[in-house]
Order: sequence, then C-alpha cells, then structure tokens
Amino acid sequence: MTCLMSGTQLIRAEQPLNIDWSNIPAQKNPYLDVPVLGSSQGLISQQQEKEIGEKVLREVRLQLATIQDPWLETEIQQIFSGIYAQTGLGQPIAVVLIKDLQINAFAVPGGLFAINAGTIVSAKNIDQLAGVMAHEIAHVSQRHYSRSMESIKGQGILALVGLLAGLAVATQSADAGAAVMMGSQAAMIGKRLSYSRDQEREADRIGMQYMVLAGYDPNSMADFFEVMQRSSTQLSYLPEFWLTHPLTTSRMSEARLRARQFNFNSKPDYARQQRFELIKWRTLISSSNPNLTQLNIAAQNNSAAALALASYHIQQAQYQQAKKILDKIQPSEVQKNLYHLIWSDWYKSQNQFDQALVEIFSDYQIAPENKALAMQVAEIYILKNQPEQANQILNPLSTRFPRDVMVWQLLQRAANLQTGIIREINVLRYRAEVQFWNGQEVNAIKSLLQAQRLAKDQPALKARIDQRVAQMQDAHDLDS
Ligand SMILES: [Zn+2]
Repeated sequence: MTCLMSGTQLIRAEQPLNIDWSNIPAQKNPYLDVPVLGSSQGLISQQQEKEIGEKVLREVRLQLATIQDPWLETEIQQIFSGIYAQTGLGQPIAVVLIKDLQINAFAVPGGLFAINAGTIVSAKNIDQLAGVMAHEIAHVSQRHYSRSMESIKGQGILALVGLLAGLAVATQSADAGAAVMMGSQAAMIGKRLSYSRDQEREADRIGMQYMVLAGYDPNSMADFFEVMQRSSTQLSYLPEFWLTHPLTTSRMSEARLRARQFNFNSKPDYARQQRFELIKWRTLISSSNPNLTQLNIAAQNNSAAALALASYHIQQAQYQQAKKILDKIQPSEVQKNLYHLIWSDWYKSQNQFDQALVEIFSDYQIAPENKALAMQVAEIYILKNQPEQANQILNPLSTRFPRDVMVWQLLQRAANLQTGIIREINVLRYRAEVQFWNGQEVNAIKSLLQAQRLAKDQPALKARIDQRVAQMQDAHDLDS
C-alpha cells in the first residue's frame, strides 16, 4: 500500500504563495486528504496501461481532427505539467487538443489526456482550464477506470481500447444534430465506461488539491461547472463532458464549499490573463473558421486577437494584411514569444529564411527546450537546405516527444535533403513513424519493412529497424 502523497512529496511540492496556510488546521489539511491506492493497482501492469494509452492515442489521431500547433501545444502542456507534477505519476503519454468547439475533455489509462478546443474557448481564465485538467488527472491518478476493466474482464485489452476509442470518437461531433444521435451511442458505451458519482466527487476533490498545489484558484473549478451548466441550457443537448462526467447540483455546491476551505487569496494576475487571451484566440483560429468580422473588431483593441488575426491571414496567404497588423502590434513581455514566431512565419512565407531565423533565434537561445521555438528553427534550417543543423535539433526532440507526428514530419523532410541510400532509408523510417502515430499502423509497418530491405548491408541501422518493426507489430496486435 502506497500513499500517493507521502510527507516528502508534500515538502517538495511547490506551495502557492497566495494561500494562507495558517488558516488550514493540520488535521483538516486538504493536501493530506488523498485516499490510499489499493488493490486496483494489480489489475493491469503499467506497461499494459502505456500500451492501451498509446493505442487510443493512435485511434484518436486517426478518427478525430486534432490541432497541430506547436506553440499552442507547448502552452497547454506547460499548464498541464504543473498540475500533473503534483501526482507523482510517471510521464504522461500525451495531451491532445481536439478540433471541436463542444466542451469536453477525457483521460485514458496510462496518461493520455484530450481537451477539446471548446473547453479552452469557453473558459474565462487559465485557472478554469486548470480545473478541468486537474479533474481529469485525478481520474487517472485514482485509477477510476478499474471499473470498466472489471466490466470487460476476459475480453482482452483490445476490447478496452475499442471501447475507449469508441467513446472518445462518439462524443465528438461537429454539428448538434449528429451530436444528439451520437449521444445515445456514447451513452450506451458510456454506461460501461462512465465514472460513478463517487468517482466524480473524488476527481473533483483530489483534482482541486492538485490545482491548488500547482498555484491555481480552486474557486474556478466551481466557476467552470457554472459555465458548463449555462452552455447546456443554451443547447438542446448536453455537453458531452456531462455524459461521462455527470454534473449534479450537489457536486457543484460541494465544489464551491470545498474551494472556500482553501482560503485561496486570488489576486488579479495581469500577465496570466494575457497569456490566457493568447491561448484562447489562437485556439479559436486553429479549430474553426473564425468569424472574421468579430475577429477584426476584437483585434482593434486586443493584441492577442490581433496576433491570432495576423496568423490567420498568413495561413490564408494574405501576406500584406498580415504585415499591416503585425506592424502595429507593440507586444508585451508575455506576448513576445508568439509575436516573434508569427513574424518568423511571415518571413518564411516570403522565402526570407535568414530574416525568419533572426526573428526567433534569440528567443530560442534563451529557451532551447521550448518545442515550438525549436521546431521553428529546425524548419528554417530545412528550408535553408541545412539538414545537419536541423537534425541536431530534431533528434533530441524526437527522443523527448516520440509520439509527436509533426517532429517526425520535419525529420522526414530533413532526411529528404540527404544523399545516397541513407536518404531513402531514413525517409522511409520517419514516414513510418508519421504513419504509425497517425493511426495507420499497417502502412507504417510496410514503410519500415521497405526500409529494412534497403538497409540489408548496414547491420547497425538494420538492427535498429528490426527492433522497431517488432515493436510496431506488437503494438498493432496488442492482445494476441
Ligand atoms: Zn469526471
């Protein structure tokens, strides 16, 4: 029996500055109030959990439209990691952003998390978004899915993957009519997979502890429940989040009461709110056809909206309009990174690659671990026909983010600039990874087998390919 939050972890956890700890009686210290994990741990091994999570990730990528935006991913990942770090769990598999304006989020064993664009754009601040993440993280840390494991006992892991992916896909739908139809299907699957009321309460309670430890206002969890409730009364169908996370009045008032016990002293944080504005507008243009009239109006006095609008014009190849907007923006400290990235995109679009590099290089040198900056620098090296420099950045990135399709795509482009037989082999190897993590497992294995044949005279490389073929084949027929 291990307790999730042992004393040592509590000391190490970063305590948010604006909590008055003296007001929390020791015996009522909510940070110690985490249940002990018990027998459910034995149900499946951690390795199996990881395989399930990765398989569902590939299904989700195959069946749902996801947002591919390194800047946005990096921002969301940073918020997520701060909360996730409070659990003491190992590395998560991924946090996926789904191009869907309904409010929804879900978590899968092994640490796969998905957040709908709708959740981000419906939130009023980062703390509300953190509350949703914290709730999902708590479902995983408390292993709430063990119930569903019991219900499919004897059917093997693939059956569970099928159910999880089915639920994930069924609860996503772009238009309301289909959502109602899909709703009943999801509800059927959901019956076997949805969490119990007690588990929902526990996810609220423990999630709230995680978010406070990470420095977020617990009141915003209750606030977001209200946002969800309002959105459900406007629509003729329930937000899909409710199907899998039923929200009751008592759950809402409990969250409100519990949040009060933390005596969290929330001060207005201008920089944090500015950051949220950037995330929100960026999500809006990455996930839908924005209402241009509204965006134009907002862009007049909101530089986060203006940056989103400039990006949108670049995407639409309206370069002069983009430049006109960018020329007028005076970025704040929080906005500088994204501002430089968008200028860099603009220079890229004009084939001015040196200028594109200059625009972000000092940001990259200050924060080389930032995925968005690193990927941008690597892509410019590719455009400048310097695959060696690109690979120096991309190889470590592919180790840190082995399931990131965009990183493998860049590696494939860089490999394409090489010469000789190694070019063909590497292009195939990286194409295989792109296909694999997009859910096209059979095609991925085919690409890799082709690479294997070409590498027959290169024992070291061939050995690596052999190993990867075996891994992909195992992952493909998970339970045979
Ligand atoms: Zn839930």
